[in-house]
Amino acid sequence: MYEIDIVYAPESGVLRGETIITATAGSALDTVDLALQVPATEVAVDGDGITSFGQSDGVLSIALARPIAAGDEFVMEIAYEGLPGEIPAWVPTTDGGSVTVTNGATGTWFPVHNVPRDRADLTVTAEVPADWTVVSNGTGSRIAGTENSSVFQWRTSHELSPQSAVLGMGPWETEDDRLSDGTPVTNVYGAGQKEAMKPLADQAPRMLDFLAERFGPYPFDTFGGIYVEALSEDTPFYAPQGRVILPAPAWADESVLLHELSHQWFGVSVTGDGPASGCVGECFAVYAEWMWAEADAGVDLDDRYREGIRQHQDDPQWWRETIESGASMYTKSPFMMHALSHHIGEDAFLGLLKRWPSENAHSVRTWDEFEAMASEEAGQDLAGFFDAWVRGSEVPAAEYLWPGPLSHRAR
Ligand SMILES: [Zn+2]
Repeated sequence: MYEIDIVYAPESGVLRGETIITATAGSALDTVDLALQVPATEVAVDGDGITSFGQSDGVLSIALARPIAAGDEFVMEIAYEGLPGEIPAWVPTTDGGSVTVTNGATGTWFPVHNVPRDRADLTVTAEVPADWTVVSNGTGSRIAGTENSSVFQWRTSHELSPQSAVLGMGPWETEDDRLSDGTPVTNVYGAGQKEAMKPLADQAPRMLDFLAERFGPYPFDTFGGIYVEALSEDTPFYAPQGRVILPAPAWADESVLLHELSHQWFGVSVTGDGPASGCVGECFAVYAEWMWAEADAGVDLDDRYREGIRQHQDDPQWWRETIESGASMYTKSPFMMHALSHHIGEDAFLGLLKRWPSENAHSVRTWDEFEAMASEEAGQDLAGFFDAWVRGSEVPAAEYLWPGPLSHRAR
């Protein structure tokens, strides 16, 4: 459990914070390492001030006065003050605000045990200039303020992995809405962004309905889009828990939004760890774009597959990087997923796409576990298929490349 209290002064860019972490020791501890980019000023453990802490390369190392036994609960209080961590994790926006994106972003604004399996609840209280808005995960609102400042508080209702935490602050416009299942929506728009971005933002509810039909109910109890413009053009789109961040208006389109929305099921609710961990999120998200193209624009996915494979079949370079390494996650994996749908049959495939996120909701899973469930759902050992597609660096054998109906007019 993280209780995060921050004050942000945009003129100086200084962030002052105090975070209380209530943790349980997984093993006996005499030091604790936390990710934190902002300089720490004070540290206390179980109420005792600790002077022996050091900080380098974004890691705060705390030497404990008394060791903590495995299984014991302990409380750390950490005060910090200074400039938040670096771009690209801490993203300044063109209107003077900022938003956090990408793995490890959390060390930029609160000290965190940055391990996917270490899920925790978050309470974020943030003081900003009076006309600013703060958005984080879960449910929140403005709880206090003066002529010069506004204080917002946000709380998660599902534990999250560190990379799924978000903090956005700026002179932003807020808009409330609801999904068809009643889930409250809080969208925020960067200064001057609403007119351009609202038509896209308004697509999110029907896209979430589409995804819920295929993957099961939306996994969280709130949703919101963060539609801002990053100063840097290299800022990625991102999906923290219950949120999507589209910080590059020029590149934001329907398939980008659909992709980020699908991460709520794949990557956020079910977080990946271990080999091919990226595939636990990305392989599904890129294929969700295909499914949307089929449902919304009538694209024939078999044709798209055949065309794509024909284009790359004689290009060893395209196949060299494996999906497992993450290097061909966005290129090969939709083809792998489409081949899987024909290799095991559409019924088993669609069953799997619902079963995986529902049985594993709000947990950390490995890609190996997905492969095992796929084999079970298909009633056959799929090791050969996944070896060829996920770990292979060559064109898969014909039985995996042209399964089922794809073999017709294959060449
Ligand atoms: Zn993605």
